[in-house]
Amino acid sequence: MSDCLFCKIVAGDIPSTKVYEDGNVYAFRDINPQAPTHILVVPKTHVASLDDVTAENSALAARCLEAIPKIAAAEGLANGYRVISNVGDDAGQTVRHLHFHILGGRPMGERLV
Ligand code: 5GP
Ligand code: ZN
Repeated sequence: MSDCLFCKIVAGDIPSTKVYEDGNVYAFRDINPQAPTHILVVPKTHVASLDDVTAENSALAARCLEAIPKIAAAEGLANGYRVISNVGDDAGQTVRHLHFHILGGRPMGERLV
């Protein structure tokens, strides 16, 4: 998607601080971190959100999930971390390219769930 911010980041057209990359997944530091460690994990192929995951494309999301424990270990998040994926307007999704926030490095405090 030529007008998608995270597609541009994956393509290297917009700079980012990469923390992990494989054939299917790209992960980089959030520009506005909400915790000492705040990383965004995205599929290299455009999917708008979890609401668009289907039997045909769920492997893209699965590759992201497989990357998360590797990234967490590399970041030293042995004491735990939170994973969030905002979907749509009510969740406050601002970038319409599927992404998983990894938040850690401090107790996450007040709980949403
Ligand atoms: P959402 O609100 O859609 O769940 O999360 C989007 C996230 O992308 C936000 O946490 C925001 O700080 C981050 N973000 C927005 N633009 C950029 C950017 O250009 N670079 C990086 N690294 N993060 C961004
Ligand atoms: Zn995209």
